[in-house]
Amino acid sequence: MPFTDDIENLFVLSDYKRNTPDEDLIADVKKVAIQLEKNTVTIAEYELYGTFHPSTLQRRFGSWFKVMEVCNLDASRSCLNISEEKLFSNLEKVWTSLGRQPKYCEMRKPLSEYSVGTYEKRFGSFRSALKQFVEYVSSGIENKSKDNESNCKVKKLSKENKEVVRKTKRNISDRLRFQILMRDGFTCKTCGRSPVTELGVKLHVDHIIPWSKGGETIADNLETKCEQCNLGKGNAFDC
Ligand SMILES: [Zn+2]
Repeated sequence: MPFTDDIENLFVLSDYKRNTPDEDLIADVKKVAIQLEKNTVTIAEYELYGTFHPSTLQRRFGSWFKVMEVCNLDASRSCLNISEEKLFSNLEKVWTSLGRQPKYCEMRKPLSEYSVGTYEKRFGSFRSALKQFVEYVSSGIENKSKDNESNCKVKKLSKENKEVVRKTKRNISDRLRFQILMRDGFTCKTCGRSPVTELGVKLHVDHIIPWSKGGETIADNLETKCEQCNLGKGNAFDC
């Protein structure tokens, strides 16, 4: 009966698809990448141009990120794989270089590494992204001691070869740096310059008492300085 045959063929077909060898799936993704002349393929692009369904590949390899990995394609460019931390870190960078909350239209290259669309996709809207970013930064204030004192005592040899136990690490976390910039109003504590009033002013956060001289990495020992004041301590570089 032809009808039964058709049904059987359908089953054979779907069974065959389920057992497509890894190599065939990989080859198909690579083919799409070549077709697009890109070093990466997004899920949406594969859905349009690929032979299989993206979910087949995601199930087989674990995630779309893994699919890119096994195909030797660039996974970092796919906005779906950008971690929340990276998106926040980029937002922090943009915010710092402007000295204020970024506007929707300012989220573009070269100022911002990721487009506003990437934030919208991830957080629903740009406004919601900003809200969650501020929550993320503020939540670090409660964990301040956990973040920076980190239980691990840094041991260091002093000039007298005596072991000095430090409470904090030298490195200032992104979150703490941003908190200090906010506290200081994105203004250099030495000369008062700020990217808000002067385009291109770069701000740093530095130890007041240097870490090497016993100053700890805590809010009270940190302050905002512009690049010029920070690097040109004593104007050594200006002469
Ligand atoms: Zn300055």
